Amino acid sequence: MQTIVQQQKRWYEEGHTKSYQFRKDQLLRMKKMIGTFEKPIIEALKFDLNKSEFEAYVSEIAFLKSEIDHHVKHLKQWMNPQKVKAPLTHKGSKNMIYKEPYGTVLVIAPWNYPFQLALAPVLGAIAAGNTVIIKPSELTPTVSWVIKKMVEQYFSPNYIAVVEGDKKVTQELMEQPLDYIFFTGSVPVGRKIMEKASHQLIPVTLELGGKSPAIINKDAAIDLAAKRIVWGKFTNAGQTCIAPDYLLVHHEVKAPLIKAMKKYIHKFYGDRPLENPDYVKIVNDQHFERISSYLNAGTVVSGGSLDEKRQMIEPTILDQVNWSDPVMQDEIFGPILPVLTFDHLSEVITQVNNRPKPLALYYFGESETDQEEIMTSIPFGGGCINDTLYHILNPHLPFGGVGESGMGSYHGQASFDTFTHLKSITKQTTKFDQKFRYPGSSFGLTLIKKVLG
Ligand code: NAD
Repeated sequence: MQTIVQQQKRWYEEGHTKSYQFRKDQLLRMKKMIGTFEKPIIEALKFDLNKSEFEAYVSEIAFLKSEIDHHVKHLKQWMNPQKVKAPLTHKGSKNMIYKEPYGTVLVIAPWNYPFQLALAPVLGAIAAGNTVIIKPSELTPTVSWVIKKMVEQYFSPNYIAVVEGDKKVTQELMEQPLDYIFFTGSVPVGRKIMEKASHQLIPVTLELGGKSPAIINKDAAIDLAAKRIVWGKFTNAGQTCIAPDYLLVHHEVKAPLIKAMKKYIHKFYGDRPLENPDYVKIVNDQHFERISSYLNAGTVVSGGSLDEKRQMIEPTILDQVNWSDPVMQDEIFGPILPVLTFDHLSEVITQVNNRPKPLALYYFGESETDQEEIMTSIPFGGGCINDTLYHILNPHLPFGGVGESGMGSYHGQASFDTFTHLKSITKQTTKFDQKFRYPGSSFGLTLIKKVLG
Protein backbone atom coordinates (compact mmCIF):
# COMPACT_ATOMS: atom_id res chain seq x y z
CA MET A 1 0.00 0.00 0.00
CA GLN A 2 2.86 2.27 0.87
CA THR A 3 4.35 1.62 -2.58
CA ILE A 4 1.07 2.35 -4.38
CA VAL A 5 0.61 5.64 -2.56
CA GLN A 6 4.24 6.67 -3.04
CA GLN A 7 4.12 5.87 -6.76
CA GLN A 8 0.87 7.74 -7.22
CA LYS A 9 2.18 10.76 -5.36
CA ARG A 10 5.33 10.80 -7.47
CA TRP A 11 3.31 10.48 -10.66
CA TYR A 12 1.02 13.28 -9.57
CA GLU A 13 3.96 15.52 -8.71
CA GLU A 14 5.41 14.91 -12.16
CA GLY A 15 2.29 16.67 -13.45
CA HIS A 16 0.80 13.93 -15.66
CA THR A 17 -2.77 14.32 -14.42
CA LYS A 18 -3.22 18.05 -14.75
CA SER A 19 -3.83 19.00 -18.38
CA TYR A 20 -7.33 19.36 -19.75
CA GLN A 21 -6.60 16.91 -22.55
CA PHE A 22 -5.35 14.23 -20.16
CA ARG A 23 -8.39 14.52 -17.87
CA LYS A 24 -10.80 14.44 -20.78
CA ASP A 25 -9.06 11.42 -22.34
CA GLN A 26 -9.20 9.52 -19.04
CA LEU A 27 -12.92 10.21 -18.59
CA LEU A 28 -13.54 8.89 -22.10
CA ARG A 29 -11.31 5.91 -21.32
CA MET A 30 -13.47 5.24 -18.26
CA LYS A 31 -16.54 5.24 -20.48
CA LYS A 32 -14.88 2.83 -22.90
CA MET A 33 -13.87 0.56 -20.01
CA ILE A 34 -17.41 0.48 -18.63
CA GLY A 35 -18.81 -0.26 -22.10
CA THR A 36 -16.35 -3.10 -22.69
CA PHE A 37 -17.00 -4.67 -19.30
CA GLU A 38 -20.76 -4.18 -19.33
CA LYS A 39 -21.55 -7.90 -19.48
CA PRO A 40 -19.20 -9.02 -16.65
CA ILE A 41 -20.45 -6.12 -14.52
CA ILE A 42 -24.09 -7.14 -15.00
CA GLU A 43 -23.20 -10.78 -14.29
CA ALA A 44 -21.28 -9.86 -11.15
CA LEU A 45 -24.20 -7.76 -9.87
CA LYS A 46 -26.50 -10.72 -10.51
CA PHE A 47 -24.16 -13.04 -8.66
CA ASP A 48 -23.57 -10.86 -5.60
CA LEU A 49 -27.03 -9.27 -5.21
CA ASN A 50 -29.33 -10.96 -7.75
CA LYS A 51 -29.79 -7.59 -9.52
CA SER A 52 -31.72 -7.85 -12.76
CA GLU A 53 -30.09 -6.63 -15.95
CA PHE A 54 -32.57 -3.73 -16.00
CA GLU A 55 -31.76 -2.58 -12.46
CA ALA A 56 -28.04 -3.14 -12.97
CA TYR A 57 -28.00 -1.14 -16.17
CA VAL A 58 -30.18 1.75 -15.04
CA SER A 59 -28.88 2.30 -11.52
CA GLU A 60 -25.23 1.39 -11.95
CA ILE A 61 -24.05 1.58 -15.57
CA ALA A 62 -26.25 4.20 -17.28
CA PHE A 63 -25.80 6.55 -14.32
CA LEU A 64 -22.01 6.48 -14.72
CA LYS A 65 -22.13 6.93 -18.48
CA SER A 66 -24.33 10.00 -18.24
CA GLU A 67 -22.14 11.45 -15.45
CA ILE A 68 -19.10 10.98 -17.70
CA ASP A 69 -20.83 12.80 -20.57
CA HIS A 70 -21.75 15.65 -18.24
CA HIS A 71 -18.16 15.88 -16.90
CA VAL A 72 -16.65 15.86 -20.40
CA LYS A 73 -19.07 18.52 -21.61
CA HIS A 74 -18.34 20.96 -18.78
CA LEU A 75 -14.77 20.09 -17.81
CA LYS A 76 -13.03 22.97 -19.55
CA GLN A 77 -15.29 25.55 -17.99
CA TRP A 78 -14.97 23.98 -14.51
CA MET A 79 -11.16 23.94 -14.80
CA ASN A 80 -10.73 27.54 -15.92
CA PRO A 81 -9.22 29.81 -13.27
CA GLN A 82 -11.97 32.12 -12.11
CA LYS A 83 -11.41 35.89 -12.20
CA VAL A 84 -12.93 37.69 -9.24
CA LYS A 85 -13.54 41.32 -8.33
CA ALA A 86 -11.46 43.16 -5.74
CA PRO A 87 -12.01 46.09 -3.37
CA LEU A 88 -10.40 49.53 -3.95
CA THR A 89 -7.56 48.62 -1.58
CA HIS A 90 -6.45 46.13 -4.29
CA LYS A 91 -6.36 48.65 -7.14
CA GLY A 92 -4.00 47.54 -9.91
CA SER A 93 -4.10 43.86 -8.94
CA LYS A 94 -5.73 40.88 -10.65
CA ASN A 95 -7.50 38.35 -8.43
CA MET A 96 -8.01 34.74 -9.40
CA ILE A 97 -9.13 31.41 -8.03
CA TYR A 98 -7.04 28.54 -9.36
CA LYS A 99 -8.62 25.09 -9.38
CA GLU A 100 -5.99 22.85 -7.87
CA PRO A 101 -6.28 19.06 -7.52
CA TYR A 102 -5.68 17.64 -4.04
CA GLY A 103 -3.23 14.97 -5.22
CA THR A 104 -3.79 11.32 -4.29
CA VAL A 105 -7.31 10.47 -3.15
CA LEU A 106 -8.85 7.38 -1.61
CA VAL A 107 -12.41 6.34 -2.54
CA ILE A 108 -14.01 3.88 -0.10
CA ALA A 109 -17.17 2.22 -1.42
CA PRO A 110 -20.13 0.30 0.08
CA TRP A 111 -21.84 -2.82 -1.27
CA ASN A 112 -25.40 -1.70 -2.14
CA TYR A 113 -24.61 -0.12 -5.53
CA PRO A 114 -21.14 -1.61 -5.50
CA PHE A 115 -20.15 -0.63 -9.02
CA GLN A 116 -21.70 2.82 -9.34
CA LEU A 117 -20.66 4.01 -5.87
CA ALA A 118 -17.06 2.86 -6.36
CA LEU A 119 -16.71 4.70 -9.67
CA ALA A 120 -18.94 7.81 -9.50
CA PRO A 121 -16.58 9.64 -7.10
CA VAL A 122 -13.63 8.55 -9.26
CA LEU A 123 -15.05 10.55 -12.18
CA GLY A 124 -14.91 13.72 -10.08
CA ALA A 125 -11.40 12.86 -8.91
CA ILE A 126 -10.21 12.33 -12.51
CA ALA A 127 -11.91 15.52 -13.74
CA ALA A 128 -10.25 17.47 -10.94
CA GLY A 129 -6.80 16.07 -11.87
CA ASN A 130 -6.06 13.67 -9.00
CA THR A 131 -4.70 10.13 -8.85
CA VAL A 132 -7.07 7.63 -7.23
CA ILE A 133 -7.06 4.52 -5.07
CA ILE A 134 -10.38 2.66 -5.02
CA LYS A 135 -11.34 0.39 -2.11
CA PRO A 136 -14.48 -1.52 -3.18
CA SER A 137 -16.69 -3.31 -0.67
CA GLU A 138 -15.63 -6.78 0.42
CA LEU A 139 -19.31 -7.78 0.84
CA THR A 140 -19.78 -7.86 -2.95
CA PRO A 141 -16.56 -9.72 -3.85
CA THR A 142 -17.44 -10.55 -7.46
CA VAL A 143 -18.11 -6.91 -8.32
CA SER A 144 -14.95 -5.92 -6.43
CA TRP A 145 -12.95 -8.43 -8.52
CA VAL A 146 -14.41 -7.16 -11.80
CA ILE A 147 -13.61 -3.56 -10.83
CA LYS A 148 -10.02 -4.55 -10.11
CA LYS A 149 -9.62 -6.45 -13.38
CA MET A 150 -11.09 -3.72 -15.55
CA VAL A 151 -9.17 -0.88 -13.91
CA GLU A 152 -5.92 -2.86 -14.19
CA GLN A 153 -6.57 -3.42 -17.87
CA TYR A 154 -7.33 0.25 -18.63
CA PHE A 155 -5.25 2.33 -16.23
CA SER A 156 -1.73 2.37 -14.83
CA PRO A 157 -1.64 1.81 -11.03
CA ASN A 158 0.40 5.01 -10.82
CA TYR A 159 -2.81 6.75 -11.77
CA ILE A 160 -5.77 4.59 -10.67
CA ALA A 161 -5.33 1.54 -8.46
CA VAL A 162 -7.82 -0.83 -6.86
CA VAL A 163 -7.08 -2.27 -3.43
CA GLU A 164 -9.43 -5.07 -2.36
CA GLY A 165 -10.12 -6.14 1.20
CA ASP A 166 -11.94 -5.48 4.43
CA LYS A 167 -11.72 -2.79 7.09
CA LYS A 168 -8.14 -3.71 8.01
CA VAL A 169 -7.07 -2.88 4.47
CA THR A 170 -8.91 0.44 4.62
CA GLN A 171 -7.37 1.28 7.96
CA GLU A 172 -3.91 0.48 6.62
CA LEU A 173 -4.53 2.63 3.55
CA MET A 174 -5.55 5.48 5.81
CA GLU A 175 -2.14 5.36 7.52
CA GLN A 176 -0.65 6.59 4.24
CA PRO A 177 -0.15 10.29 3.47
CA LEU A 178 -3.32 10.65 1.38
CA ASP A 179 -4.57 14.04 0.23
CA TYR A 180 -8.33 13.36 0.33
CA ILE A 181 -10.71 10.61 1.47
CA PHE A 182 -14.13 10.11 -0.08
CA PHE A 183 -16.15 7.65 1.98
CA THR A 184 -19.58 6.18 1.23
CA GLY A 185 -21.03 3.92 3.91
CA SER A 186 -22.70 3.74 7.28
CA VAL A 187 -22.82 6.38 9.99
CA PRO A 188 -20.80 4.39 12.60
CA VAL A 189 -18.00 3.65 10.12
CA GLY A 190 -18.15 7.26 8.87
CA ARG A 191 -17.30 8.40 12.40
CA LYS A 192 -14.27 6.09 12.46
CA ILE A 193 -13.10 7.32 9.07
CA MET A 194 -13.30 10.94 10.17
CA GLU A 195 -11.51 10.19 13.42
CA LYS A 196 -8.71 8.36 11.63
CA ALA A 197 -8.43 11.06 8.94
CA SER A 198 -8.10 13.70 11.64
CA HIS A 199 -4.72 12.24 12.72
CA GLN A 200 -3.17 13.49 9.49
CA LEU A 201 -5.77 16.25 8.92
CA ILE A 202 -6.83 14.60 5.67
CA PRO A 203 -10.00 16.30 4.33
CA VAL A 204 -13.00 13.99 3.98
CA THR A 205 -16.32 13.72 2.24
CA LEU A 206 -18.72 11.44 4.11
CA GLU A 207 -21.68 10.09 2.16
CA LEU A 208 -23.62 8.34 4.91
CA GLY A 209 -27.13 7.05 5.54
CA GLY A 210 -29.87 7.26 8.12
CA LYS A 211 -33.65 7.16 8.33
CA SER A 212 -35.22 9.06 5.42
CA PRO A 213 -38.95 9.74 5.85
CA ALA A 214 -41.66 9.96 3.22
CA ILE A 215 -44.49 12.25 4.33
CA ILE A 216 -47.87 11.78 2.71
CA ASN A 217 -50.39 14.53 3.36
CA LYS A 218 -54.15 14.22 2.85
CA ASP A 219 -54.06 16.32 -0.35
CA ALA A 220 -51.53 14.01 -2.03
CA ALA A 221 -52.26 12.25 -5.32
CA ILE A 222 -52.51 8.97 -3.45
CA ASP A 223 -52.29 6.44 -6.26
CA LEU A 224 -49.25 8.12 -7.80
CA ALA A 225 -47.65 8.59 -4.39
CA ALA A 226 -48.10 4.87 -3.67
CA LYS A 227 -46.56 3.92 -7.01
CA ARG A 228 -43.52 6.17 -6.56
CA ILE A 229 -43.01 5.10 -2.92
CA VAL A 230 -43.16 1.39 -3.81
CA TRP A 231 -40.64 1.99 -6.60
CA GLY A 232 -38.28 4.01 -4.38
CA LYS A 233 -38.52 1.67 -1.40
CA PHE A 234 -38.30 -1.78 -2.99
CA THR A 235 -35.79 -1.07 -5.75
CA ASN A 236 -32.66 -3.02 -4.76
CA ALA A 237 -34.82 -4.64 -2.02
CA GLY A 238 -34.71 -1.46 0.04
CA GLN A 239 -30.91 -1.44 0.15
CA THR A 240 -30.67 2.13 -1.11
CA CYS A 241 -29.24 4.91 1.06
CA ILE A 242 -31.97 7.33 -0.04
CA ALA A 243 -34.88 4.84 -0.03
CA PRO A 244 -37.89 6.04 1.99
CA ASP A 245 -37.09 4.38 5.32
CA TYR A 246 -40.54 4.91 6.86
CA LEU A 247 -43.84 6.64 6.07
CA LEU A 248 -45.56 9.42 7.96
CA VAL A 249 -49.04 9.46 6.50
CA HIS A 250 -52.03 11.65 7.34
CA HIS A 251 -54.46 9.34 9.19
CA GLU A 252 -57.29 10.17 6.72
CA VAL A 253 -55.37 8.72 3.76
CA LYS A 254 -53.57 5.82 5.40
CA ALA A 255 -56.05 3.12 4.29
CA PRO A 256 -56.18 4.15 0.60
CA LEU A 257 -52.41 4.60 0.52
CA ILE A 258 -51.74 1.10 1.89
CA LYS A 259 -54.30 -0.36 -0.52
CA ALA A 260 -52.62 1.36 -3.48
CA MET A 261 -49.12 0.34 -2.33
CA LYS A 262 -50.24 -3.30 -2.15
CA LYS A 263 -51.55 -2.98 -5.70
CA TYR A 264 -48.21 -1.67 -6.97
CA ILE A 265 -46.14 -4.25 -5.07
CA HIS A 266 -48.20 -6.87 -6.79
CA LYS A 267 -47.89 -5.14 -10.16
CA PHE A 268 -44.10 -4.69 -9.95
CA TYR A 269 -43.09 -7.95 -8.26
CA GLY A 270 -45.96 -10.39 -8.92
CA ASP A 271 -47.93 -12.77 -6.70
CA ARG A 272 -44.82 -14.29 -5.18
CA PRO A 273 -41.99 -11.73 -5.13
CA LEU A 274 -39.62 -14.25 -3.54
CA GLU A 275 -39.91 -16.35 -6.68
CA ASN A 276 -39.48 -13.37 -9.00
CA PRO A 277 -36.10 -14.00 -10.71
CA ASP A 278 -35.42 -10.25 -10.79
CA TYR A 279 -36.02 -9.52 -7.11
CA VAL A 280 -32.84 -8.47 -5.31
CA LYS A 281 -31.49 -10.50 -2.38
CA ILE A 282 -30.22 -9.22 0.95
CA VAL A 283 -26.45 -8.92 0.81
CA ASN A 284 -25.51 -11.47 3.53
CA ASP A 285 -26.75 -13.54 6.51
CA GLN A 286 -25.97 -10.86 9.06
CA HIS A 287 -28.09 -8.25 7.27
CA PHE A 288 -30.82 -10.84 6.59
CA GLU A 289 -31.04 -11.62 10.33
CA ARG A 290 -30.99 -7.94 11.29
CA ILE A 291 -33.76 -6.94 8.86
CA SER A 292 -35.93 -10.03 9.59
CA SER A 293 -35.87 -9.23 13.30
CA TYR A 294 -37.78 -5.98 12.58
CA LEU A 295 -40.85 -8.11 11.84
CA ASN A 296 -41.16 -8.98 15.54
CA ALA A 297 -42.98 -5.70 16.27
CA GLY A 298 -45.92 -4.10 14.46
CA THR A 299 -48.50 -5.75 12.18
CA VAL A 300 -47.62 -7.01 8.72
CA VAL A 301 -50.29 -5.76 6.31
CA SER A 302 -48.53 -6.80 3.12
CA GLY A 303 -45.75 -9.32 2.46
CA GLY A 304 -43.75 -10.61 5.42
CA SER A 305 -42.45 -13.85 3.85
CA LEU A 306 -38.80 -14.82 4.14
CA ASP A 307 -36.51 -17.19 2.28
CA GLU A 308 -33.58 -17.73 4.58
CA LYS A 309 -31.66 -19.97 2.21
CA ARG A 310 -31.69 -17.40 -0.61
CA GLN A 311 -31.52 -14.44 1.79
CA MET A 312 -34.67 -12.86 0.44
CA ILE A 313 -37.32 -10.79 2.19
CA GLU A 314 -40.63 -10.00 0.54
CA PRO A 315 -41.61 -6.34 0.05
CA THR A 316 -43.33 -5.76 3.38
CA ILE A 317 -45.56 -3.04 4.81
CA LEU A 318 -45.61 -2.84 8.59
CA ASP A 319 -48.53 -1.12 10.33
CA GLN A 320 -49.15 -0.33 14.03
CA VAL A 321 -45.55 0.76 14.54
CA ASN A 322 -44.30 3.02 17.37
CA TRP A 323 -41.30 5.31 17.45
CA SER A 324 -39.87 3.09 20.20
CA ASP A 325 -39.94 -0.13 18.12
CA PRO A 326 -36.52 -1.45 16.94
CA VAL A 327 -37.54 -0.84 13.31
CA MET A 328 -37.69 2.90 14.09
CA GLN A 329 -34.30 3.06 15.86
CA ASP A 330 -31.80 2.48 13.05
CA GLU A 331 -31.74 2.73 9.27
CA ILE A 332 -33.70 -0.30 7.96
CA PHE A 333 -31.79 -0.73 4.69
CA GLY A 334 -34.10 -3.54 3.58
CA PRO A 335 -37.57 -4.14 2.10
CA ILE A 336 -39.63 -3.35 5.20
CA LEU A 337 -41.72 -0.20 5.22
CA PRO A 338 -43.17 0.93 8.58
CA VAL A 339 -46.19 3.22 8.48
CA LEU A 340 -46.84 5.87 11.13
CA THR A 341 -49.65 8.42 11.08
CA PHE A 342 -50.08 12.12 11.87
CA ASP A 343 -52.91 14.62 12.25
CA HIS A 344 -51.08 17.93 11.75
CA LEU A 345 -48.00 18.79 9.75
CA SER A 346 -46.50 20.51 12.79
CA GLU A 347 -46.24 17.06 14.52
CA VAL A 348 -44.30 15.74 11.57
CA ILE A 349 -41.85 18.63 11.71
CA THR A 350 -41.26 18.12 15.43
CA GLN A 351 -40.91 14.35 15.16
CA VAL A 352 -38.44 14.42 12.27
CA ASN A 353 -36.47 17.29 13.79
CA ASN A 354 -36.14 15.36 17.07
CA ARG A 355 -33.99 12.81 15.24
CA PRO A 356 -30.71 13.02 13.30
CA LYS A 357 -30.95 15.00 10.07
CA PRO A 358 -32.05 12.60 7.30
CA LEU A 359 -30.12 12.01 4.07
CA ALA A 360 -33.36 12.31 2.07
CA LEU A 361 -36.92 13.41 2.65
CA TYR A 362 -39.93 12.98 0.39
CA TYR A 363 -43.08 15.04 0.68
CA PHE A 364 -46.33 14.14 -1.08
CA GLY A 365 -49.08 16.78 -1.18
CA GLU A 366 -50.43 19.41 -3.55
CA SER A 367 -50.49 22.53 -1.34
CA GLU A 368 -47.49 24.69 -2.18
CA THR A 369 -47.66 26.34 1.23
CA ASP A 370 -47.29 22.95 2.94
CA GLN A 371 -44.55 21.89 0.53
CA GLU A 372 -42.63 25.07 1.33
CA GLU A 373 -43.16 24.65 5.05
CA ILE A 374 -41.66 21.16 5.02
CA MET A 375 -38.76 22.18 2.78
CA THR A 376 -37.84 25.11 5.00
CA SER A 377 -38.54 23.64 8.46
CA ILE A 378 -36.68 20.32 8.32
CA PRO A 379 -32.95 20.05 7.60
CA PHE A 380 -32.06 17.08 5.38
CA GLY A 381 -29.58 16.21 2.62
CA GLY A 382 -31.94 16.49 -0.37
CA GLY A 383 -35.13 14.98 -1.66
CA CYS A 384 -38.25 15.30 -3.75
CA ILE A 385 -41.72 16.78 -3.65
CA ASN A 386 -44.20 14.22 -4.99
CA ASP A 387 -41.53 11.65 -5.88
CA THR A 388 -38.77 9.46 -4.43
CA LEU A 389 -35.09 9.01 -5.43
CA TYR A 390 -35.39 11.14 -8.57
CA HIS A 391 -33.27 14.04 -7.33
CA ILE A 392 -30.20 11.82 -7.43
CA LEU A 393 -30.46 11.50 -11.21
CA ASN A 394 -30.08 15.21 -11.98
CA PRO A 395 -26.38 16.08 -12.40
CA HIS A 396 -27.17 19.74 -11.72
CA LEU A 397 -28.25 18.86 -8.14
CA PRO A 398 -25.37 18.28 -5.67
CA PHE A 399 -25.96 15.07 -3.73
CA GLY A 400 -24.95 14.67 -0.08
CA GLY A 401 -26.08 14.59 3.52
CA VAL A 402 -26.06 17.01 6.42
CA GLY A 403 -25.37 16.40 10.11
CA GLU A 404 -25.32 12.66 10.78
CA SER A 405 -26.25 11.83 7.19
CA GLY A 406 -22.92 13.14 5.94
CA MET A 407 -20.80 16.08 4.89
CA GLY A 408 -19.87 17.31 1.44
CA SER A 409 -21.57 16.47 -1.83
CA TYR A 410 -20.95 15.25 -5.36
CA HIS A 411 -22.47 14.56 -8.81
CA GLY A 412 -21.95 16.91 -11.75
CA GLN A 413 -19.93 20.00 -10.91
CA ALA A 414 -20.15 19.22 -7.19
CA SER A 415 -17.92 16.17 -7.89
CA PHE A 416 -15.29 18.34 -9.56
CA ASP A 417 -15.50 20.90 -6.76
CA THR A 418 -15.20 18.21 -4.07
CA PHE A 419 -11.85 17.02 -5.37
CA THR A 420 -10.55 20.54 -6.08
CA HIS A 421 -8.83 22.96 -3.76
CA LEU A 422 -9.75 26.59 -4.46
CA LYS A 423 -6.43 28.40 -4.47
CA SER A 424 -6.94 32.14 -4.13
CA ILE A 425 -4.32 34.37 -5.69
CA THR A 426 -3.80 38.13 -5.77
CA LYS A 427 -1.46 39.11 -8.61
CA GLN A 428 -0.15 42.49 -7.54
CA THR A 429 0.95 45.24 -9.88
CA THR A 430 4.57 46.44 -9.74
CA LYS A 431 3.74 49.65 -11.66
CA PHE A 432 2.83 51.51 -8.49
CA ASP A 433 2.58 50.86 -4.78
CA GLN A 434 -0.24 52.27 -2.68
CA LYS A 435 1.21 53.76 0.48
CA PHE A 436 -1.80 53.65 2.77
CA ARG A 437 -1.11 50.17 4.21
CA TYR A 438 2.40 51.00 5.41
CA PRO A 439 3.25 52.35 8.88
CA GLY A 440 3.53 56.14 8.90
CA SER A 441 1.02 56.76 6.09
CA SER A 442 -0.77 60.03 6.92
CA PHE A 443 -4.07 59.10 5.25
CA GLY A 444 -3.91 55.29 5.65
CA LEU A 445 -6.36 54.95 8.54
CA THR A 446 -8.88 57.34 6.98
CA LEU A 447 -8.80 55.46 3.69
CA ILE A 448 -9.02 52.02 5.31
CA LYS A 449 -12.02 53.15 7.38
CA LYS A 450 -13.65 54.49 4.23
CA VAL A 451 -13.02 51.40 2.10
CA LEU A 452 -13.25 48.57 4.62
CA GLY A 453 -15.70 50.15 7.05
P1 NAD B 1 -20.03 0.23 5.82
O1 NAD B 1 -19.86 1.52 6.52
O2 NAD B 1 -20.13 -1.00 6.62
O3 NAD B 1 -18.78 -0.01 4.80
C1 NAD B 1 -18.39 0.89 3.81
C2 NAD B 1 -16.93 0.69 3.47
O4 NAD B 1 -16.14 0.95 4.63
C3 NAD B 1 -16.56 -0.71 3.00
O5 NAD B 1 -15.66 -0.61 1.91
C4 NAD B 1 -15.88 -1.33 4.21
O6 NAD B 1 -14.87 -2.25 3.87
C5 NAD B 1 -15.26 -0.12 4.89
N1 NAD B 1 -15.19 -0.28 6.36
C6 NAD B 1 -16.05 -0.95 7.16
N2 NAD B 1 -15.68 -0.82 8.47
C7 NAD B 1 -14.57 -0.05 8.47
C8 NAD B 1 -13.71 0.44 9.49
N3 NAD B 1 -13.92 0.16 10.78
N4 NAD B 1 -12.66 1.20 9.14
C9 NAD B 1 -12.41 1.50 7.83
N5 NAD B 1 -13.19 1.04 6.83
C10 NAD B 1 -14.25 0.29 7.13
O7 NAD B 1 -21.27 0.44 4.86
P2 NAD B 1 -22.00 -0.64 3.96
O8 NAD B 1 -22.68 -1.64 4.82
O9 NAD B 1 -21.06 -1.13 2.91
O10 NAD B 1 -23.08 0.28 3.23
C11 NAD B 1 -24.33 0.56 3.77
C12 NAD B 1 -24.38 1.95 4.38
O11 NAD B 1 -23.91 2.89 3.46
C13 NAD B 1 -25.79 2.38 4.73
O12 NAD B 1 -25.78 3.05 5.95
C14 NAD B 1 -26.16 3.35 3.61
O13 NAD B 1 -27.13 4.30 3.96
C15 NAD B 1 -24.83 3.97 3.33
N6 NAD B 1 -24.80 4.47 1.96
C16 NAD B 1 -24.75 5.80 1.77
C17 NAD B 1 -24.75 6.30 0.48
C18 NAD B 1 -24.70 7.77 0.19
O14 NAD B 1 -24.45 8.11 -0.97
N7 NAD B 1 -24.92 8.65 1.13
C19 NAD B 1 -24.79 5.42 -0.60
C20 NAD B 1 -24.83 4.07 -0.33
C21 NAD B 1 -24.83 3.60 0.95
